[in-house]
Parts: sequence; structure tokens; C-alpha cells
Amino acid sequence: MTRSYVIKPELGKTYPFISRGKGIYLFDQEGKRYIDGCGGAVTASIGHAVDEVAEAMYAQAKEVSFAYRSHFSSDAVEELGAKLAEWAPGSLNWSFFVSSGSEATETAQKIAIQYWQEKGRPTKNRIISRWMSYHGITMGALSMSGHVLRRKRFVPLLEDYPAITGPYPYRRPEGISLEDYALQCANELETAIKRVGSEQVAAFIAEPIIGASGGAVVPPDGYFQRIREICDQYEVLFIADEVMTGVGRTGKAFGIDHWGVVPDLMTLGKGMSAGYTPMAATIVSDEIIETISKGSGLIMAGHTYSANPQSAAVSLAVLKYVEKHQLIEKSAQQGAYLLSRMEQLAEEIPLIGDTRGLGLLCGMEFVKNKDTKEPFPLSAGVASQVIAKAFEKGLLVYPAIGGLDGVAGDSIILSPPLTITTEEIDELIHILRDAILAVQQELQE
Ligand code: PLP
Repeated sequence: MTRSYVIKPELGKTYPFISRGKGIYLFDQEGKRYIDGCGGAVTASIGHAVDEVAEAMYAQAKEVSFAYRSHFSSDAVEELGAKLAEWAPGSLNWSFFVSSGSEATETAQKIAIQYWQEKGRPTKNRIISRWMSYHGITMGALSMSGHVLRRKRFVPLLEDYPAITGPYPYRRPEGISLEDYALQCANELETAIKRVGSEQVAAFIAEPIIGASGGAVVPPDGYFQRIREICDQYEVLFIADEVMTGVGRTGKAFGIDHWGVVPDLMTLGKGMSAGYTPMAATIVSDEIIETISKGSGLIMAGHTYSANPQSAAVSLAVLKYVEKHQLIEKSAQQGAYLLSRMEQLAEEIPLIGDTRGLGLLCGMEFVKNKDTKEPFPLSAGVASQVIAKAFEKGLLVYPAIGGLDGVAGDSIILSPPLTITTEEIDELIHILRDAILAVQQELQE
């Protein structure tokens, strides 16, 4: 092929062509092998080319792939809804299916606003979010996101929602204990609600573990418990954005389960169908559905592909695979091993300032000065260089770049398929070490 008519992420750059995948590996058309150290975009969580999923996909396609949700439900969709109700905590029993994480968070935003309207409180329509956050690329989702790099061209078009600081233990003020820091950050929500007025606030949205804008930043214990208390006190719904952290990625079914907190709404994407077909969901509580049922009875959201049987069958096969192979437990075990190997690298290599994570969602932050934690300027593109070098050497890692300009966002995420073995982690670490050492060498020259 000589000429491309496809708009690529970086215009003018040449990308290798994918040929096939198996387990944690991908192969391009030149025969080069890559370890999928980040499941693409923290997505391919059960590995590539799993037979059971391919079979479920084919079986559904032979019957019917698409039937519009305003005309029909289907066995696949109903079974998937029931499975998610089983998995999700508390009374989060109701799934609204969409096709991407952005659609899921934007649907959560809409349902939260509609809930208060149905209760006769239409002024409760603003969403509080956090500066270091990413909830999606559509305008509603971007309005709730703090990700500086992704927002900046569109700021005049975005809702001017209030935002608070997300806990970032590595860069917390000196001398403060983690316990106090957790409360300090959570209490910012109370301050923001009081400033805006609780009669204006519909919901608070947060990722249980900060992904694309921070690089697997884990909050201190106590943070989400306090957030839940504040939300209850001021009648603000809590939306847990589990698009990256859901479906076993962090060693629990959902990221928020680490703190035993039950949100009012939860969003899923990525690992929900593990990359086999586009699929995402907004899961909401009994109370929300009962309120809307008693009111208009109609949720004003949805897309053409919402709840299509084809994607539902695939997602169901993925969830069953996760259960059958105990991948949530494996994520916890293998994640602890991966993090320990990353910590060894950090002891050896001065460029690595911090390593962190839960389960197989791990992050690594690069710094100019390890003692002072001084970051590189974003323009130095250190994480990008590591990513490029790793790619060259056959390892894919995910960027967490530009989340908070000049403060956070020179990090990478390691999030391989939950099926990864100890030997495969050793292989991944070996390549990563070579890549980071090569970048460190270049920076010193
Ligand atoms: N929410 C979170 C936490 C994410 O990490 C992402 C994507 O990275 C999204 C939402 C948006 O998902 P999508 O890219 O599928 O629209």
C-alpha cells in the first residue's frame, strides 16, 4: 500500500500494521513481536485472540448482531445486565449500555442531572470533579475532566464546572501524614459544595485510581470513605468512573471496592469487553431507577449502538472468562509482583521518581531530581521518549502525560493483560529497564 487516507493519531507518522495477537503478545506485518504491556489503552485485559470470545462472537453473529434497543431486548443484553448486577456493589443493579467510556461518563452526568429534576430540584445540575482526572473526550465528559492537554483547545466551549485537588501521595505537602492528607483532600469537596451551594450540585465524579492524567495514582485510605460521607451529608450523588479500573484491573472487581465504598453511579468501559468489541456501561442504583420510573419513566440518553446484542454477547463472554480463570485474584497477585519489580528498577535508576499502583494497574513517574522530586518540563517529553524506546524494543506502555501541566504527567502506565505470568513480567521488566536506561543515557549526553 502506498498512500493512506486514514487520519492517524500523529499526522505524517508511519505506523506498523498489526497482523495478529496471542495472549500478551502482538505481532506486526513485518513479524516483529511486541509485549502488550498496557493492554493497548488499558483495555485488552484477558489477552489477545481468546477462543471462547471468538466463539461467542461468531455464535451471536450467526443469530443476530443488531436489533435496536427501542424495538427489542435480547438474551445477551439481559444476561449481561444480570451479571453486572451480581458483580457490582450495593444496589447498583441497573445497567445502561453504550459503546465507549466517554459515552458512559456523559450518560452518568445526564442521569445524575435527570435524577434531581425528577425529584423536583432542577437547580442541582452541576458536577464537581478533580483537577487531575480524565473522564472522556466528548464535550460533556471533557467538561468533567481536568486533563490540561486534552482540554486546552476547547476550554471556551466546556462547562465551567468546579474542580478540587485529587490526592497525589507522592507530591503531597511535606510533613503531612497520609491519613491527614486523605482528609484534607476529601474535605475540599465539602468546601466546594458550600461555595457553590448544594442546591446547585448534582454529583461528584472521580476515578478510584487516577489513570491517564496521573499514571495509576492510588488515593490514601480514608479518602473515599470521607468523600462518601460528604456526598451523603450534602445530597450529592457520587459517580465512580471505573472505565479504567473496573472488571478486575486493580485486583478487585472494581477499584472502589478497595475502600468498601458504594457509589450511586458507576461507569465501565475498556476491560468490560477487553477490546473485542466496543462496549461500555453506566450502572446506577435502585433508588435512581425507582425515582426516574415514578417520574418521566424515560432516560434521556442513548446511542444507535446502545445495548446491541453483538457487543453484549462478547462482553458476557469476557466476564465469564474473567470468572472462570480467576483473573481478579491473578491481577492482585501478579500486580504485587510487577510492582515489586518496578520498585527494584526505581532503586537502580535515578530517572524513576515514583512507582505505584494496585493490582495490574501500575504507574511509574520520571523526575529530573529524585531527592527534590523536581519534574522535567513537559517539553522535555521524557515519558514519551521512554514509550518510544520501549516500542522500538518490542514493549507497549501507556502514556500518562500532561495531566496537570508542570506538576503531574510525566508518567507511564503498565497494565498488561490480567493473564500475564511471572516469566512474562520478568521479560517485560527486562525490556523496560533497557528502554529507561537508554533514555537516561541520552539525557546525560
Ligand atoms: N474514563 C476514564 C477513567 C478513562 O480512563 C477513559 C479513557 O481513557 C475514559 C473515561 C474515556 O473512555 P473512551 O476513550 O472509551 O471514550
